[in-house]
Amino acid sequence: MTDPITTRLLELYRIGPGPSSSHTVGPMRAARLFRETVLAAGLVPVRLEVELLGSLSATGRGHGTDRAVLAGLLGWHPDTCDVDELLALPARLAVSPEIAWGEHTLALRPADVHFLPYRAYRGRKLPHPNTMICRAFDAGDAVLLEETWCSLGGGFVARGDGSGGDPTDVSRAPPRHPWHDGDSLVAAAKAAGLSIGALVIENERAWDGPEGGSAAGLDRVWEAMRACIRRGLAASGALPGGLGLRRRAGGLLARVDGGKVEAGYVHIARAQAYAFAVNEENADGGRVVTAPTNGAAGVLPGVLAEAADRLALDREAIHRALATAGAFGALIKHHASISGAEVGCQGEVGSATAMAAAALCEILGGDPDEVEYAAEIGMEHNLGLTCDPLKGLVQAPCIERNAMGVAKAWSAAQLALGAGTGHLISFDRVIQVMKRTGLDMRREYKETGEGGLAIGVHLPEC
Ligand code: SF4
Repeated sequence: MTDPITTRLLELYRIGPGPSSSHTVGPMRAARLFRETVLAAGLVPVRLEVELLGSLSATGRGHGTDRAVLAGLLGWHPDTCDVDELLALPARLAVSPEIAWGEHTLALRPADVHFLPYRAYRGRKLPHPNTMICRAFDAGDAVLLEETWCSLGGGFVARGDGSGGDPTDVSRAPPRHPWHDGDSLVAAAKAAGLSIGALVIENERAWDGPEGGSAAGLDRVWEAMRACIRRGLAASGALPGGLGLRRRAGGLLARVDGGKVEAGYVHIARAQAYAFAVNEENADGGRVVTAPTNGAAGVLPGVLAEAADRLALDREAIHRALATAGAFGALIKHHASISGAEVGCQGEVGSATAMAAAALCEILGGDPDEVEYAAEIGMEHNLGLTCDPLKGLVQAPCIERNAMGVAKAWSAAQLALGAGTGHLISFDRVIQVMKRTGLDMRREYKETGEGGLAIGVHLPEC
């Protein structure tokens, strides 16, 4: 018997600062967990050090990994930290490095976070392409504690030796309606006479118990998505990092509202403007929701916000849509990867496209077979998509790529509707192929900023 998937929706949809779930949210969470371990052990370090390896080192500067690690060591949480204070943190610590550590203090400086050049660990087998090593030192500069942490994508983290991190499936009670892959998800929905979204919501409620919580959490996720769209549409000017990319979300929406977009394209164009708004906020370090990652955070809110307004979706329908999308995101996370550093952008924008396609297909009346087909199409036509961010920034090709994900999700939902059962390639098969393709990809195409479009724009220091 295969273990059922028990990833909860609020683990998949994490609210946190941009620009990257794997390079910002995950490292902040891992650094905070390291801090908690040191404090729980009663250790009193005088100095801390974090080494960033793999993709965290290659593109971590553009992703703000250093400030995220510093924030985690201070005990900040991605969900609640002030994004403006986060941006200013390295400068603040450079001037005033003394921080509270339990009942003591220690000095924490930006220089305590090291971006290790590739030559320093070439040939060494890392537990994950996003690896960080955290150390605490005593007054004699001896290591009190060393831990290796991995940022798995989407803000998920695990210790390098597998001894801790996010809860694993086996550590949680079995779901009310178990499913472990796409086929069993569809079968469970049909057996229960529920849509996929309704089935996943029933599982969430059963886990909640009498105290509830998941519905309020999904409200919070949805409000964070909408707030991000609002902020992104209202903002203007150049994005940080030196590419000179200017924000376009507000201008794109003005074209839609001004009747400058072809009538048949209006819905997609509006959703694309929303996706731009989210991804521009993300690029600027604003607060976004992983769906399933920060880099791919625009596709699902873009599609859902447009559909929600046009079709007057109520609260329950929004929750079901998030649940449907979340089920396919969880399947990808478990059986393939949502990490660009592991499998390229097919794992990020490809996954987001599949999730949004599934949600939209169900909103438009698709049955579980058609919803699974929509997710399959959404992923199939992103297979092989590399991750090659210019200057290691989550801007180009990322922002436009999310908007293209919106268009693909829309097409996938339409192609699946009315198709019934028996399509040739299953979702389970396509995510196996996605994983295999990702493993076959050269490292340059997996969030290192050294391949594809990034060549010549950013020369790595290693
Ligand atoms: S190219 Fe895709 S995977 Fe890479 S940083 Fe951009 S959105 Fe993320």
